[in-house]
Order: sequence, then structure tokens, then C-alpha cells
Amino acid sequence: MKVERTDTFNNVKRAVPRSEIESLVKDLVRIPSHSQVPTREKEIAEFLHEFLTDEGIDSKLRKVEKDRYNVIATLRGSGSGSSLMLNGHLDTVPPYDMDIPPFTPKVQGGKLYGRGALDMKGGLGAMAATMLALDRAKVDLKGNVYLTAVVGEEERSEGTEDIVIRGPKADMAIVGEPTDLEIQPSHRGLEWLEVHFYGKAAHGGQAAQGVNAISMAAKFVNLLDTELLPRIRERKSAHTDPPTLNVGLIQGGQQPSSVADHCVVKMDRRWTPEEDLQQVFKEIYKLFDELKRDDPRFKAELKRDSTNMKTMTHVPNVVPVKHRLVKSLRESVKTVTGKPAKLTSFWGWTDAALLTHFGKTPTVIFGPGGKGAHSRIEYVLVDDLQKCMHVYAKTAMDISG
Ligand SMILES: [Zn+2]
Repeated sequence: MKVERTDTFNNVKRAVPRSEIESLVKDLVRIPSHSQVPTREKEIAEFLHEFLTDEGIDSKLRKVEKDRYNVIATLRGSGSGSSLMLNGHLDTVPPYDMDIPPFTPKVQGGKLYGRGALDMKGGLGAMAATMLALDRAKVDLKGNVYLTAVVGEEERSEGTEDIVIRGPKADMAIVGEPTDLEIQPSHRGLEWLEVHFYGKAAHGGQAAQGVNAISMAAKFVNLLDTELLPRIRERKSAHTDPPTLNVGLIQGGQQPSSVADHCVVKMDRRWTPEEDLQQVFKEIYKLFDELKRDDPRFKAELKRDSTNMKTMTHVPNVVPVKHRLVKSLRESVKTVTGKPAKLTSFWGWTDAALLTHFGKTPTVIFGPGGKGAHSRIEYVLVDDLQKCMHVYAKTAMDISG
């Protein structure tokens, strides 16, 4: 019955006012949860768990590793409908040298400032508020609605990896990373690569007796720029932005009068769903072959960066635009904002890929707007927090209601 449904949605919207979402997000920003905090995400996980429990929502803290807990909250459905997971990360990057007080949230001109306000305590707060709203408005659910607030997304994604392995498993999921209220069903994969170059040490005064690893690295980077990069840049994807390759670090040698016997180059490679990881490796091996043909003393080794994930890989995320979840989100955005939703792809990598690829749970990214993720001035738009909550709730009512 159409009328009843609209009434229920109005009740849901009224159940958690804008001021309450804002104050929840502020509370989340106030608790540092980055990698330099000795107990990492412990305090924020406990806070969120208590917050949900006080509301009468079924919430658990589940240990991922020492001091590190995922928060898993459940609104139970009658069992006959599809389940939906709302997923967000508890951790942020460190404050580094921010130009604003990182953990004293402040609202000015409709913007909420602080470390993690945008990435992604804003989206996470809107998701927690959604749980409250559905519960308070006593929405009749057929499928379960889960909130999984996870640890470690900024580093090794231990939190979502644990959810994929141990459940809960939902039929569909939304990751609340900031998307400016655009629906983003896809993004590229990510691989951090290291190339080690091995030379032979000698005195700088007798340089001809050595083999210089720094020179090898220079030739390699030059070949990347002139041969591989132009080819990569031409590639297009039907789902995501084009692929990229960035040399982010180079390190080698000891001092000016020694021939360097070791040099390392670290790279970030963003690969599209049309590429694959083997191809990414092969293209680099081909450059090695070429350099070896020019100079038989050339010796290099390609390694995956050791800070990659424990058991999974940073695969791309792809959900077809015709998928039921995308359709449902489109309708929700249209209802909430009064404008047709924009469908784009996320420029970074997210935990959505783990849920979609390894968890077989199609996952779309949708979250608030703002600016300055990982940078010196970070803020989220307060209006968007409320709109996000409305979109999450409407979508949950459609998928699981
Ligand atoms: Zn994030």
C-alpha cells in the first residue's frame, strides 16, 4: 500500500533529527582512531557498541586482533526478504599536521570539521543513525539489516576481511565512503609493487669495477615513462576510471663515493576490471627483459609490497548498473534529493571490493560530500549526513522491508 509506505518513510525521517546525527558524528570525530593510537580503534568501537546497545539495538563487539574489535549490529527481519549490510570503517589516517584541531569537531557554515569527518565517520554516523531510525519507527523488516563498523580499512582491511570470512553475510551491501551523494558501483583494483635492483659495490674512485643499482633504477623508471605509461594511459574501462601507475618512492645507495649495490622503487598501480593482476606483473617483467638485453648485468626483482592484505587482494569492485541495489539506490536518491542520481565510479579503493569479490555480496559505494580526506583541512557537509541517512533508510526499506 503506497500511502502506508510513504507514512512509514516519514516516520523514519522524523525518528532521528538532523541535530542528533550531527552530534553522533561529532562524538565519533572526538575519539582518535588512527594507527598511532596505542589501542587503535578500541575506544571508538566500544563507544559505538554502547551507543547502539543503549538504544536497544542488538550489537556485538567481535575481536579481530588484540584491542581491535569490529562492531556488528543487527535489526532482525522475519526471514523472508533480502538482507542488507551497511559497512563503514572506524579508523582514520593520523592527523599529521592538520591546519584545524583534528579531534575537536566544529560546525561552521554547514560543514563539520575534523579528522575523519569525511573519511569516514560522517558516513558511518549516518549508517548508525539509519539503524536507530528503522528501529525507532518500528519498520517491518523481512530481511536482516546489518551495520558492520570495521577496523583497519586505511591499512590492511583486517576488519572487513574478518567480516567476509566469519560473517554476517548479507545479500547486498553499501559502503559509506564519501561520494558526494553519487552512486558508485565500481572502482579499480590496487596493487603496491616494489622493484629491487641489485648491483655490485665498489669504491667511487674505481666505479668501473662495480655495477650501479641506482643507474639500473633510473633506466627502469625512464622505460616506464616512455614505454609502459603511454600504453596504460590509452586504456579505457567500461566501469571505472582509466588505469594508472605512479612511482611513489625511490631509495638506494649509502654515500656519494660508493657504487650503490641496492636500490628500490615502489609503485602504486591502479588496474581496471578489464585488466588483471598477472598482466600487471607481466608488463613489468617485459621491461626487465628489455633492460637485460641492453645490459646483461641488469638484475631486478619484482615483489608485492609486504603491507598488502593478509589473505585477500585489492581487487577491483564491479557491480552491474542494472543490479537491484543500484536501482533501489537510484530511486532513493531521487526521492530524497528530488534530483536524478549521478552514477559514477569511485576514484580510490574501498572495502566494497572485498565484500563483492570475496564475500559474493554485491556492494555499492554511497556517502556524503565534503572535502579534504587525508589532508590538512577535512570536513563533511552536515546536510549530506541527513540526506545519506534518508537514502540508506529508504534503500533498506526497499531491499529488506
Ligand atoms: Zn575511507
